[in-house]
Amino acid sequence: MSYIKDVINQVIERNPGEPEFHQAVTEVLESLQVVIDRHPEYIKAGILERIVEPERQIIFRVPWVDDQGRVRVNRGFRVQFNSAIGPYKGGIRFHPSVYLGIIKFLGFEQVFKNSLTGMPIGGGKGGSDFDPKGKSNDEVMRFCQSFMTELYRHIGADIDVPAGDIGVGAREIGYMFGQYKRIRNSFESGVLTGKGLVYGGSLVRKEATGYGLVYITDQMIKVKGKSLDGARVVVSGSGNVAIYCAEKVFAMGGKVVAMSDSNGYIYDPDGIKLDTIKQLKEVERKRIKEYKEIHSKAEYHEGAVGIWEVPCDIAFPCATQNELDAKAAKTLVANGCFAVAEGANMPSTPEAIDVFLSNNILFAPGKAANAGGVAASALEMMQNSMRYSWSFEEVDSRLKSTMINIYKNISAAAREYGHENNLILGANVAGFIKVAEAMMVQGIV
Ligand code: NDP
Repeated sequence: MSYIKDVINQVIERNPGEPEFHQAVTEVLESLQVVIDRHPEYIKAGILERIVEPERQIIFRVPWVDDQGRVRVNRGFRVQFNSAIGPYKGGIRFHPSVYLGIIKFLGFEQVFKNSLTGMPIGGGKGGSDFDPKGKSNDEVMRFCQSFMTELYRHIGADIDVPAGDIGVGAREIGYMFGQYKRIRNSFESGVLTGKGLVYGGSLVRKEATGYGLVYITDQMIKVKGKSLDGARVVVSGSGNVAIYCAEKVFAMGGKVVAMSDSNGYIYDPDGIKLDTIKQLKEVERKRIKEYKEIHSKAEYHEGAVGIWEVPCDIAFPCATQNELDAKAAKTLVANGCFAVAEGANMPSTPEAIDVFLSNNILFAPGKAANAGGVAASALEMMQNSMRYSWSFEEVDSRLKSTMINIYKNISAAAREYGHENNLILGANVAGFIKVAEAMMVQGIV
């Protein structure tokens, strides 16, 4: 363990003030001792030292003009983390909390997630501390255009393929694609994913992360004799991942009784009316609080973390990193929750994960459970190269089989490396080995 500890310590020293990145690296590396024991050649090849260092980190100024004519300046990032198995691939996040450490943690996670999909995609992530909330469409467009005016020179269908994430949906991708196309004077549909259907997007991409999350959860609980049918479910967040997770839960016979945004959560004992959430969040861009104005039987509570006090059988944290701590985890366990599957990236703190594992809660870690989004993005890239579009059913069935395969691979890796029910270990090991093997044969690069 001392070799791995040394690498973790180097990461902490070399990347000061980036706690989320330290957390993600520590979680992955601590589970790799079993792999290093079997593959001592990875030590000589410096695989761990190289895999924790991004291949390239780009930071740039993003100036734009607001509706009052004032010049605003944000900071843009793209971290191209690892291209051993394919072009960099990973979303762009626009949120005021974004700084280099967040993008590095997300990029690092993405390397293993993308590997788990079985598709030829490396890992990267990008974003800005720009807050789209409360901005007009014109402001968002001007910001996206300025962001892409720098980013375009670093991306390409065979180089780096960004997509959406928090604060970046179909609208932002559309503005960024338009600016890319204008600068390049070339219609390169494979440069971004999450595009609109009328210009090269894929059916099911919008739904993919949420649907995929439910497909893998269904698989995980089925092998333990449980079912989504009749299950009481809590989903945090009310963005892209949360909405389509909830939609699939209802389709499979479960009942979602609570959802949230960053201000608070709603509890509807009769089941959340998803059409209202979609209207409020996808169309009107309003706060979740408004739900209560429409459905008077529902309760609204200030404070997003309170959502974990709502009793449930299955919890899907789908909002953001570290949204579920040890206290919340204990409450979930005490209330009879038997499964937790992460739709967001790193939503559970390390202490919360300890609580789940020590109470034998079925736990699907984000890098496997939310891989459906990037898997569908890879399917979008395939369709773009073929200049062809598959039907909804075709993409959905490919997504489903990808998620089932991910479950099989991570549970097999967990078994092989000695901890049958520890899917965190399984996901880290299975994701890592493929990338490590590719790095081994490509020399010291
Ligand atoms: P969206 O921007 O569509 O939605 C994010 C949701 O989380 C909103 O409801 C937002 O509320 C809430 N939220 C954001 N920050 C906080 C916070 N600090 N506390 C509580 N709630 C918060 O993003 P996505 O749904 O796309 O992403 C959600 C998570 O899923 C992220 O971790 C992302 O990295 C991950 N993910 C997304 C994928 C995708 O395909 N989109 C793929 C894989 C992972 P509010 O509106 O108030 O800000």
